[in-house]
Amino acid sequence: MYMKRPFVTKEQLTEIISRYPTPFHLYDEAGIRRNAKELYDAFSWNPGFKEYFAVKATPNPYLLDVLKDCGCGCDCSSMTELMLSEAVGVTGQGIMFSSNDTPQEEFVKANELGAIINLDDITHIEKLEQAIGTFPKTMSCRFNPGGVFTISNNIMDNPGDAKYGMTAAQIEEAFRILKSKGVEEFGIHAFLVSNTVTNDYYPMLAKVLFELAVHLKETTGAHITFINLSGGIGIPYRPDEEPNDIKKIGEGVHRVYDEVLVPAGMGDVSIYTELGRYMLAPYGHLVTTVINEKHTYKEYVGVDACAVNLMRPAMYGAYHHITVAGKEDAPCDHMYDVTGSLCENNDKFAIDRMLPEIEMGDILVIHDTGAHGFSMGYNYNGKLRSAELLLKEDGTVSLIRRAETPKDYFATFDFSSYSKKLGLA
Ligand SMILES: *Cc1c(COP(=O)(O)O)cnc(C)c1O
Repeated sequence: MYMKRPFVTKEQLTEIISRYPTPFHLYDEAGIRRNAKELYDAFSWNPGFKEYFAVKATPNPYLLDVLKDCGCGCDCSSMTELMLSEAVGVTGQGIMFSSNDTPQEEFVKANELGAIINLDDITHIEKLEQAIGTFPKTMSCRFNPGGVFTISNNIMDNPGDAKYGMTAAQIEEAFRILKSKGVEEFGIHAFLVSNTVTNDYYPMLAKVLFELAVHLKETTGAHITFINLSGGIGIPYRPDEEPNDIKKIGEGVHRVYDEVLVPAGMGDVSIYTELGRYMLAPYGHLVTTVINEKHTYKEYVGVDACAVNLMRPAMYGAYHHITVAGKEDAPCDHMYDVTGSLCENNDKFAIDRMLPEIEMGDILVIHDTGAHGFSMGYNYNGKLRSAELLLKEDGTVSLIRRAETPKDYFATFDFSSYSKKLGLA
């Protein structure tokens, strides 16, 4: 069992909190860079390898800049994600536009930026033509094999129920149409299972996509230049989970590549990924202060963060490990529910969690919030979004997003007669 330790000490946190009040999300630049390098090393056998960071996981330009510096592009699926990508200077084939149910104006923007457009559906060929009048030289299509996706008899997920992607027959048809319209280079994409904690997912997915690629090359004559394994590599949210070994994952994909693509004369295909969680989740902490305790039918500790700052526990019952700063080695001999202040009983970061004895004012570190954390935030109960801070490689901390104020929350009333009463005008 590996220990989950915060990437900051209590002393560091106390100093940071003296400048930036809790709650906030704190990111670890050194960890982000180390992990990105390991990913690139694991796929260094593939000269065209590129990671397109899934911007939706953590849409902050300062972090996108760090990832860009590590060689990553951006996977976008909305107008504002495209704008963020543009703002950090990631354009052209540095952007993978993997959207679904796509509004026309987003196709227009993606095309203006020169992004690789990954079509979710065959009907989008016509929509794209209406939107931009032509077709880019390179296009990608998203595949959905249907049925259930199993790894050694375990059902991992149910692609047949998922709204994404095209059937094999539709992709074949789509490639034929796109080719006839002048598209010269093709890619295939699929995202079948989320948060996999197994070294087998990517190699299994790669086999499915590589075999499809060989088939499409033979039947349509399309020149396939990349295969996008998308997201889905998970992280061990629980301390008893075995982390993925990215080196083994890279080797597993390499083996299938040599088995399937190379003999088909496709040894020049680039491998792309669109990881979100794997790139950032472990390198973010939600830092929060204990502000209340309550002893009724259960023992509660109330913190100054709530589900609007991290929705995963409330939404999916997801486990997020919690460390009481400064009590890393104390025995976990007290059982608590750790709650936020929403008027919703699912606003609990932990239920029946064994932790060291907690006192008022203790600082709690909620782990693995670097992806799908802040970004899933919302404003229910009039709660405000927190700040985001970056712990830089030199140990200094910078504010990379300020906390919302009531003025931000009320800003969209600024046309109304209430604006003055709310102090906006
Ligand atoms: C969400 C998403 C990703 C990233 O998923 P992770 O689970 O964070 O790896 C990648 N590609 C697409 C199209 C997505 O929707």
